[in-house]
Amino acid sequence: MIIVFLGPPGTGKGTIVSELRKHIKIPAIATGDILRDAIEKETNIGKTAKEYVNSGKLVPDKHILRIVENRIKEDDCQKGFIFDGFPRTFNQAQGLDIVLHKLNKQINQVFYFETSYNTIINRLSARRVCLKCDAIYNLIYNPPDIVEKCDKCGGRLVQRDDDREGIIKKRFEVYEQETLPLVQYYQEKSILTKIDANNKNVKGVFQEFWERLAELELISNSGS
Ligand code: ADP
Ligand code: AMP
Repeated sequence: MIIVFLGPPGTGKGTIVSELRKHIKIPAIATGDILRDAIEKETNIGKTAKEYVNSGKLVPDKHILRIVENRIKEDDCQKGFIFDGFPRTFNQAQGLDIVLHKLNKQINQVFYFETSYNTIINRLSARRVCLKCDAIYNLIYNPPDIVEKCDKCGGRLVQRDDDREGIIKKRFEVYEQETLPLVQYYQEKSILTKIDANNKNVKGVFQEFWERLAELELISNSGS
């Protein structure tokens, strides 16, 4: 199964991916996580990406496509994977189609998590992430048991550098300009499913997503 999670920053894609992984053992490829890791390790791609990521701009397509192509060729991806935050531009979507075609694979479904700008601001300004295991929290909607400590691994929780109001606004503008047109791109290929991620808690969003997965026969009724 190859699925894509599309939607504005802060709509809850990463949160739903981690819920899904409680039920299905499938690798998640989050280009944002890969880039943050590269930035922290100061690799060549990390050095290139840093300025883009911290200012809310997109990292150039050629770097992203290279990262993704290498990643999906790894052994753990042979039975399927989830893209979280990729593709984000028309060029990336087309590049992905070409790479998948070469590998004799195709996207099963694209899930578009729809949310309003106000919801995004609320969710992102209170988001905290674990430095050690990347777990996602929210000071309002999903707070950790102990302040600034990850419930799962005890790692330190921090606010992402790009989760400040000015940068969130920039990221949303970039999303509207570069990524939103992909809704139509995948609609025209008849592989787009919309999920209302706006006025529901995580449980509610996940339930809708899970029901759509079952309807599309991407999971069996027993769950895998
Ligand atoms: P994305 O991966 O789309 O950028 P995240 O999964 O990181 O978004 O979620 C953004 C923030 O919103 C996090 O703090 C997360 O805990 C919170 N969140 C996610 N889904 C919901 C929801 N349905 N209701 C309230 N808060 C949510
Ligand atoms: P995310 O973790 O998905 O919110 O992504 C954080 C940042 O990483 C984005 O604002 C971009 O700077 C960069 N990024 C992540 N994925 C991509 C992508 N597919 N294309 C370009 N830049 C990306």
